[in-house]
Amino acid sequence: MSTPETTTATTSASAADALPDYAPVPPSSLGPALNEQGYYVDRVERNLYWITDGTYQTAFLTTSDGVVLLDAPPTIGNNIQRAIDEIAPANGVSNKVTHLVYSHHHADHVGASSLFDRNVIRIGHEETRRLLLRDDDPARPPNEETFQDTRTLEIGGERIDLAWHGANHTPDNIIIHLPDHDTLMLIDIVNPGWAPVYLSNLTEDIPGYLEAPANALAYSWKHFIGGHLGRLGTREDVALHQQYMADIAESSRKAIDSADLTRYFEKYGENVWAAFKGGLDEMVATAAAPVIEKYTGVLAAADVFTESTTFHVMQSIRLDLGHGSWVHP
Ligand SMILES: [Zn+2]
Repeated sequence: MSTPETTTATTSASAADALPDYAPVPPSSLGPALNEQGYYVDRVERNLYWITDGTYQTAFLTTSDGVVLLDAPPTIGNNIQRAIDEIAPANGVSNKVTHLVYSHHHADHVGASSLFDRNVIRIGHEETRRLLLRDDDPARPPNEETFQDTRTLEIGGERIDLAWHGANHTPDNIIIHLPDHDTLMLIDIVNPGWAPVYLSNLTEDIPGYLEAPANALAYSWKHFIGGHLGRLGTREDVALHQQYMADIAESSRKAIDSADLTRYFEKYGENVWAAFKGGLDEMVATAAAPVIEKYTGVLAAADVFTESTTFHVMQSIRLDLGHGSWVHP
């Protein structure tokens, strides 16, 4: 007779065996090992540092006027201040966060904002403030400081350029450029070494999402902070993501052009939604297959999430761009 423990172990082992297998993660997609508190902190350039918990990323500048924090993901949470406490005293400056820049309003990137003083100067896009007022989450105090298109911050002699190029992942997502640190931060567009998660990183505006890498590459920089996962990115990572998305868009157009949904309508008759689902699912699988083949072993989880992103891009090509749109004669 088995003990409750072994029963549980056996059950969960066989339940795990039943789950699908995926291609291995390329070693180059992985970041450095975390410390025992579950984070890794390192210098990006000069007094700019980044922190990761393996899945999320944040960054901070140590300056003579205090620490400027760029996002506050809740999964890193109190490890943000621990990482700052490791670095700031060694640089001979205060460990107090005085400024917090929001990349966008999402809780998974700024939901640890309330760990920092009410009096911290919070800065972000005007739409970020509007959305945070709407969402009314005590974990995310709305940014008092706002801007519309561009704004340059000079804090402790360090320059941070903020720019909004239109909606992409969210309506309020901005570029944070640190020209004197050769660094660009743009969250939830490119995950260096990895495919986007569901629906192009859960993106609200696909034309803006597809355009965002070119906007990022138009700036001068060497280091890329994408917000996910365990490592920083390079210009090559952004260009590779751009090509991956372009391949998905091209393959989606071909699938739209060659689709024949007759048999689905024959089979499902008056249940037009069933026919629509059958047809779309087939078009998505057809469009995604060559992209999955090309990027497996190149971008981690290409086999996990490419179909989801392809579905999303294909709908944008049909609905935003009107490709394949058909007018009754
Ligand atoms: Zn987001």
